[in-house]
Amino acid sequence: MVFRVAIAGRPNVGKSTLFNRLTGSEAAIVDNTPGVTRDWREGAVQLLDLDFQLLDTAGLDNTKASVKSTALDSLIQRQTFIAIEQSDALIFIVDGKDGITPFDHDVAKLLRRAGKPIILAVNKSDTKAADATFDDARTLGFGEPVALSAAHGTGTQDLYEALAEIAPDSAFVRPPVVEDDEDGEEAEDVRPNSPLTIAIVGRPNAGKSTLLNQILGTERSITSPIAGTTRDAVVAEWMWEDRKIRLIDTAGLRKKAKVEEGLEQMSATAAIDEIKMAEVVILVIDAAIPFETQDLQIADLVEREGRAMIVVVNKWDLVEDKAQLLKNLKARVDQLLPQWKGVPIVALSALSGEGLDRMMPAIVKQHDIWNRRISTHRLNEWLQYMLEKHSPPAPKGRRIRIRYITQARTRPPTFAISSSQAGELPDDYGRYLVNGLRDNFGFTGVPVRMKVKTSRNPFDKG
Ligand code: GDP
Ligand code: GDP
Repeated sequence: MVFRVAIAGRPNVGKSTLFNRLTGSEAAIVDNTPGVTRDWREGAVQLLDLDFQLLDTAGLDNTKASVKSTALDSLIQRQTFIAIEQSDALIFIVDGKDGITPFDHDVAKLLRRAGKPIILAVNKSDTKAADATFDDARTLGFGEPVALSAAHGTGTQDLYEALAEIAPDSAFVRPPVVEDDEDGEEAEDVRPNSPLTIAIVGRPNAGKSTLLNQILGTERSITSPIAGTTRDAVVAEWMWEDRKIRLIDTAGLRKKAKVEEGLEQMSATAAIDEIKMAEVVILVIDAAIPFETQDLQIADLVEREGRAMIVVVNKWDLVEDKAQLLKNLKARVDQLLPQWKGVPIVALSALSGEGLDRMMPAIVKQHDIWNRRISTHRLNEWLQYMLEKHSPPAPKGRRIRIRYITQARTRPPTFAISSSQAGELPDDYGRYLVNGLRDNFGFTGVPVRMKVKTSRNPFDKG
């Protein structure tokens, strides 16, 4: 089965340019010539070891800037529908130079409904405005965008990594090339100018609004609405030490919502939106009733969305035996949320602000871990040690050979191991490796992903 990827986005963002670059097609339609009859173009792409069919709906009967806005709207709609219908996954392109426009929001809305994997790419990242657009693009809710310059050919490595995450195994033509990091040390991938984005989630009455107000009262923040979002969504930005912090609050004017009791019944979709926009999620729980079902559900969502997390245990002022409760809470995380073992727990009182000073350091630390990259060299040294300590099983008498490991992505840390008989590798061996990564490289309190790829070595007899 061919992996089909379509490019979506409003006119002029650079869809055709990207299509041409990836497919290497010369006879490309990059001008504004109207009257081309086909509904989309296709081309085969090989990006490193990934093979796929790329589709482009741009440059068709599209008269771009000259059309009236309603006509443009329906053009975008039609192109987006075709892209969705014809593909397994989508690359959603926005224009780094022009910024996010209402048309981008329209496309976003259509794409969201498609239920297909979507990679958000900010093109024209060679332009000055692109950094700001990149930050705005995060608020579209498609996770961490990929920065591209289709015209200059930069960003394709990141695009590859994003595609590799969602591509079926059949799309890989051979095992990935191992490339040692030049510096041989782990590097932190933090983008220096982009704000660290946080969101506060939790069940009703846990104290989210109180915490929000306490933070905003403490920090010299600037609050503004997020353009183009349907629900009341605001961002607040401030500097903490030398980091820019951005807090996204999609519940918006929470107090207003509180007037009608029950209005704030947390719907899963609302929480997911909020989680998707954030890098680090603050899960607020009530010290009096910690880790109720709803708390656990939210933690699961954060894990699923691949975000970093801290747990704030609120209303700490009401707790009598603080030391005992803290001990219990840690034990309960290990037991109820094994995937979040070691997640930072910050006990505080949102009402008085006591303990709040410990929250930001915990957030920044989790963000760093979430962005951490370990060199291939160190990973493979570690892998040898792990394999010697506990070798993989030998199903049907053929020993599974794990050849190498690389960190395919950060945000969240994602590892790819290349193995013979990949399909046979038991889950518990995978868990052994993931737990080893957590323990040995300090990946605690963040999701860790592991992919097992088959090494198709013709000399590999297992
Ligand atoms: P489409 O309508 O989305 O397919 O957009 P096109 O591929 O036709 O590109 C629209 C315009 O943006 C053209 O003038 C391109 O040269 C320009 N463009 C495309 N990619 C880039 C890029 O990465 N950087 C810059 N600066 N311009 C680009
Ligand atoms: P939300 O629904 O999560 O936004 O919760 P609120 O912030 O509205 O708080 C719910 C209730 O808990 C309110 O009556 C708050 O005054 C109270 N509350 C919030 N934080 C604290 C705290 O740290 N200590 C105490 N004692 N009460 C708190």
